[in-house]
Amino acid sequence: MNSILIKKGRVIDPSQGLDDILDVYISNDIIKQIAQNINRKASLIIEADHLIVAPGLIDMHTHLREPGREDEETIYSGTRAAAAGGFTSICCMPNTRPICDSRTNIKYIHSRNLELGVVNIYPIASITVGQVGEEIVEFGDLVDAGAIAFSDDGLPVMNAEIMRRALEYTSMFDVPILDHCEDRNLASEGVMHSGYIQSLLGLPGIPGAAESTQVARDVELVEFFGGRLHICHISIGASVHLIRRAKKRGVNITCEVTPHHLTLIDALVKETNFDTNTKVKPPLVSEENRQELLRGLQDGTIDVIATDHAPHTAKDKDKEYVDAPFGLIGMETAVPVILTDIVHTGVISVNQMIEKMATNPARILRLDKGTLKIGTTADVTLLDPDKRHTIKSTAFYSLSRNTPFEGKKCKGAVDTTIVGGNVIYSKGKIVSDEER
Ligand SMILES: [Zn+2]
Ligand SMILES: [Zn+2]
Repeated sequence: MNSILIKKGRVIDPSQGLDDILDVYISNDIIKQIAQNINRKASLIIEADHLIVAPGLIDMHTHLREPGREDEETIYSGTRAAAAGGFTSICCMPNTRPICDSRTNIKYIHSRNLELGVVNIYPIASITVGQVGEEIVEFGDLVDAGAIAFSDDGLPVMNAEIMRRALEYTSMFDVPILDHCEDRNLASEGVMHSGYIQSLLGLPGIPGAAESTQVARDVELVEFFGGRLHICHISIGASVHLIRRAKKRGVNITCEVTPHHLTLIDALVKETNFDTNTKVKPPLVSEENRQELLRGLQDGTIDVIATDHAPHTAKDKDKEYVDAPFGLIGMETAVPVILTDIVHTGVISVNQMIEKMATNPARILRLDKGTLKIGTTADVTLLDPDKRHTIKSTAFYSLSRNTPFEGKKCKGAVDTTIVGGNVIYSKGKIVSDEER
């Protein structure tokens, strides 16, 4: 029998209002007891007096690239990168090749993960067939196969009538639409945020309104036609204001922000001399917009921190700024970056961080996860909030290295990741199958 006793950690579980120094006892794959000074035998004892014991983190926005671009990321490498980043569950976006728009594609992800993966994967299916924005998918069939949400992420749904029908159909199954808001006509050929830095550099710009006008449209659609709308990776102050006001009116809407939009700004494009690892959609924005994101994070307008982990090979990124693909990886840097720049600086508490990286994603996706309640599956993340280290992409488990955080000095790290009662990652290393 496999059992783990985690001793004297600061147990933080927002799902049950828990924040105390406690022991956690796991037997087989279940959380059996949380109390002071548990006196039980266990096959593994973890001394956690300097650690935070949190529900396993959930990344509700990941790109795994399998099937289709296994040179960028696979289910094998992506789930290991997730575990190293403290994520016990990830939700993978459908823009693979082929697009995840059928039962077969979802089954493929499940069976590959069963065979090769080390964390839970929840597939997101596309809203439209082939993500071409013309014909909606068979929502009921895909929910039945295991799709936990729908998204055409990477691309917006430009046709409002299609979005209306997607909201109406998905409301029958109580699953959310994850909305990549970008008006393609406004964004056009832009490669960075329109503004002072962009005009200085002479690169084609993407106006902030490319995002906020679609947020405004979809807030209206969900208010008129029902459904559940979750806005992906918001980056513009105007989007924060629209969502804040919509929530006050009781509109069924949630949203997420990425660690890079919370901590980096467009000036980095200039400072790094056009490093293509600053090229992402939505683009890095101005400091004024970033400040609005921080306020939205603080007051609960922004529900979730998600990585939008988007792997690209060095070869693909090694191009002129205008030609390089959009996207950054983020699963292995999210926790250190958020602890260092957002928690230790006092923007939000570590409790709020856990809420936005575990409790809220589980609530939005209706997953029986993101909690340490007795009797639930033991997905647990141990954080070392004071560990000092430097981000080195050569140590990543991801197949890709396209991070804007290379060389960043951090305070705070993932110590241990436990999935289904098994230690998958500990002290900088994935535990091998034989050792488990
Ligand atoms: Zn997107
Ligand atoms: Zn994405």
